[in-house]
Amino acid sequence: MSVLGGIGGVLRRFSCMRQKRQGKPPLSLWGVTDEGGVLAVGGMPCTRLARDYGTPLLVVDAAALLRRVQDVQAVLNEVLPGAMLTYSYKTNCIPGILRMLHNAGVGAEVISPYEYWLSESLGVDGGQVVYNGVDKSRESIAGAVARGTLVNIDSRDEIDVVLAEAREQRRTARVGLRLALNRSAQFGLDPEGGDLAHVVRNCLDAPDHADLMALHFNVTSNARHSGYHTRCLSRALDVMSWLAREHGVRIRLLDVGGGFGVETSKNMSGVEYGLYRLFGVQPGAAWMDPFQDFRLYLRDLADTLRAFCTQNGLPVPGVCIEPGRLLTSKAELLLTQVKAVKERPGAEPFAITDAGRLSQAFPCDFEWHEAFLASDLRRPPSRPYTVTGRVCTRSDWLYRGKLLPELASGDVLAVMDAGAYFSSYAMNFAFPRAAVVAVEDGTARVLRRREDFRHLVGMDDVALADVTWDGGER
Ligand SMILES: *Cc1c(COP(=O)(O)O)cnc(C)c1O
Repeated sequence: MSVLGGIGGVLRRFSCMRQKRQGKPPLSLWGVTDEGGVLAVGGMPCTRLARDYGTPLLVVDAAALLRRVQDVQAVLNEVLPGAMLTYSYKTNCIPGILRMLHNAGVGAEVISPYEYWLSESLGVDGGQVVYNGVDKSRESIAGAVARGTLVNIDSRDEIDVVLAEAREQRRTARVGLRLALNRSAQFGLDPEGGDLAHVVRNCLDAPDHADLMALHFNVTSNARHSGYHTRCLSRALDVMSWLAREHGVRIRLLDVGGGFGVETSKNMSGVEYGLYRLFGVQPGAAWMDPFQDFRLYLRDLADTLRAFCTQNGLPVPGVCIEPGRLLTSKAELLLTQVKAVKERPGAEPFAITDAGRLSQAFPCDFEWHEAFLASDLRRPPSRPYTVTGRVCTRSDWLYRGKLLPELASGDVLAVMDAGAYFSSYAMNFAFPRAAVVAVEDGTARVLRRREDFRHLVGMDDVALADVTWDGGER
């Protein structure tokens, strides 16, 4: 252990030197600004947001979100004109955010009956929804068939349910096949196994009730380069060509999933993750790593698609993409307040905050995220901290070995790229979940109120005494 401890100490010192050398990235990467030394979102100082709405607090920059959507739409128009753009609901399933995306012309990609219900409740046209997922209820499939939603079949028996619904409703279901291109994952139909052929046969046997029109795959996450995605596309194209050749099926929509990365955050490599968990060694900063711009990424996919279709004499199908992170990651940050700082001899100081990995920032477990001292951007970096949450377990840390300025109670930290998978994974372990606000035209608007204590017992069948306070402050 002492040898290991020694190695850990050396690696941590190295990591600290590296963080010092790298410094901080420009705030413009996220579109946030420095207003007199305080980090501001859409011109609104984070200290004011923290004071007015409390912490932990998720803050959406509405203008940045809209700009991002428009940028992605412009790239699509240029590289793959006519392509369908849907947003992966599970990435950030806050109705106020989803509404902004839909108002900007983005469709919905849903993976559960709840998400399907939400898309319908938000008034999204059924034809602008793609229904994926491994556990679709009969009721939600009925809705999808009735509303003309593309249902991507995930397993052998699911097609029977879709066909039964279509027969009952005397409609033709829009059907896609989700391909399992990565055998170690549980999703989709294995192109080499019998299930795919079985589903195809069932569709072809019921031409009045199934329109087999799409292929779907989703194979990556936070990808920084198109390489793997493009190779998977080639395998999907082989399936498309097999369907045309063997069954005379013409695939009209190729849904290449999501997984497009952002330059400001990254998945830790296996080695980085191991060193981080074992020794608290900070991984390298995401913005220092090579990153392929989305335009070039999409162009690689488009070139592969067109070249394949030309070579094989097939018509070029329409394309659908289902990004989550690409659209929302950078447009949202998490504000958390330092509640206490503890010095321990021979150890990194602890900064206890109200946003740990377990309750509020789960992606920080396996992704690298930048952090700023939002309440004082001018305070110089000082030493590495272990930043923890407020749940009483050692595993509720937010950062380890993170070089930060000298911290004190009351300081406000901003965790960047909180717009993908933060609110989705948040839990109410001992504390209610955070509020979500959007800053727009210089004013803040609550998208989701902070949970109060009554909300936490809202589903319980128990008589409670009348208590005059319920944690719903602010
Ligand atoms: C999660 C998911 C996405 C979006 O993934 P991102 O990495 O956030 O882009 C798209 N499609 C499906 C089927 C998914 O499960």
